[in-house]
Amino acid sequence: MTYKKIVLKKGSEEFLKRFHPWVFSGAIHRMEKCEDGDNVTVYTADGELIGNGHYQLGSIAVRMLSFDDTTLDEEFYFERLLAAYNTRVALNLMRPDNNSFRLVHGEGDFLPGLVVDIYGNTAVMQAHSPGMHFARNMIANALVRMPNALVKNVYYKSETTLPYITRDTENYYIIGQYDTNIAVENGLQFHVDWLKGQKTGFFVDQRENRLLLEKYAKGRKVLNMFCYTGGFSFYAMRGGATAVHSVDSSSKAISLTRDNVELNFPGDTRHEAFAEDAFKYINEMDRSYDLIILDPPAFAKHKSALKNALIGYRKINAKAFEKIQSGGILFTFSCSQAVSKEQFRLAVFSAAAQSGRKVRILHQLTQPADHPINIYHPEGEYLKGLVLYVE
Ligand code: SAH
Repeated sequence: MTYKKIVLKKGSEEFLKRFHPWVFSGAIHRMEKCEDGDNVTVYTADGELIGNGHYQLGSIAVRMLSFDDTTLDEEFYFERLLAAYNTRVALNLMRPDNNSFRLVHGEGDFLPGLVVDIYGNTAVMQAHSPGMHFARNMIANALVRMPNALVKNVYYKSETTLPYITRDTENYYIIGQYDTNIAVENGLQFHVDWLKGQKTGFFVDQRENRLLLEKYAKGRKVLNMFCYTGGFSFYAMRGGATAVHSVDSSSKAISLTRDNVELNFPGDTRHEAFAEDAFKYINEMDRSYDLIILDPPAFAKHKSALKNALIGYRKINAKAFEKIQSGGILFTFSCSQAVSKEQFRLAVFSAAAQSGRKVRILHQLTQPADHPINIYHPEGEYLKGLVLYVE
């Protein structure tokens, strides 16, 4: 295994000395000719070895995988995956009533550029960097070596997460094949469409927030806006909601939502699903809902879109405040990494002020523990939520 040499500008090692796992291109003094995805060793200007990582063309030039000279072979990936596995054992996520969770959350599991979600026997793996793309076979081999036969099939799904698409980045099973796509989360069943669905097929990051919602659902009329495949809806139904309406602009998502209702609550007429634009729906709906969930897609994928994203959050929240019943509860989220907790709260605050309603914060929510945040990489915090009581 060869490692190209990268030498930093004097003083640029500060962040790395504090284990921040990224090297920005501006910090590089000189380097051997590198191709996208090459393994590299990073040195300070004084020739001190910092560690090994993956090179990438662009502003984040290196994603560090070690802070020593560890070889980046299958054993390396196995050890990192095993550490991630052991954390999930500690979190008690592998139970008969729960077989879907995130096994690898990039920097949060010391594997920058890699995401692995588990659905039953299948691992859905996403490379966000060319380095992880080239390491995919080693990672897949290491995945099927996880204890207790955790993983049987490894589906590689990086068509939309890599900076470019080539023939070898097509989605495919690296190991195994399709068996079942029914996953279990807190006792509820879900069809997960990792072949065609968004992200890895399901949003495992809302698992605990859905459980909290269940506790508030009794006797309420629920609107699940941006429902995707219905995650929050089934918890609301199990919690005793009188009616649950699910809305998403994707008709595929709505059809999966309907399938999921049938799977968990066959013939239950409390649920209705609408393939509609959220802004249109909320503008036209009546004022009968007293529990509303707003879980939009990342309005800001990059810092440049921040201003418009904040306007988007303000608009949709303002409508919810305007229309929710008195004594209503609003679960509102942002999954944009580019939007900070404070900025999101400010957008929701402006929306509340605009409505003139009396609003209190009941809970402040975040991502669950299987999406850990590396303390040296605060950028890993992305999911923010508020539960609000509206009088
Ligand atoms: N709450 C979901 C995840 C939401 S992801 C869960 O728990 O699984 C965001 C969803 O918003 C996607 O399903 C996407 O199809 C939908 N979406 C994006 N833009 C939309 C719009 N303008 N109106 C309605 N839905 C939209």
